[in-house]
Amino acid sequence: MTTLPRTARSLRPTLDTLFHIDYDWWSKGDRDLRVYLRSHLCAEHRALMAESGENLDMIDWVDPRTAEVKRRDGLVQIMRTHCSQRPDYIAEHTSIVDAAFRVFLVNDNEPLTPRQLADRIERDPETVLKTLAGKPVYQGLRPI
Ligand SMILES: [Zn+2]
Repeated sequence: MTTLPRTARSLRPTLDTLFHIDYDWWSKGDRDLRVYLRSHLCAEHRALMAESGENLDMIDWVDPRTAEVKRRDGLVQIMRTHCSQRPDYIAEHTSIVDAAFRVFLVNDNEPLTPRQLADRIERDPETVLKTLAGKPVYQGLRPI
């Protein structure tokens, strides 16, 4: 049995490469994370937000398990507690990019491999890999 020297290891992402939302990517250029975040709200909350004109940046949120007060993004908090609980949060017609983004939004951006993502969004792992590992970076989804 031979082991490959370290340098021969491919740098190209594989099915087991961990991906996450790279928020640094969002802070570059004039990308508007708030606008994109809003697009992931359920129809009900999108209408509510449009009506109130609120932006909901950071809010104080009490963790029900520890009673600890944490600063959380208001929009993400709504998604966690409401929108992501709806059956159409990740639907058949949701694009792979949007679906992957939605998974990371509500799991605290805990890195996942294309294999794990595919399992959660019910898509083909190879297709997920091809989408996320391509040249253009979609919505900040990048290997860690
Ligand atoms: Zn909602």
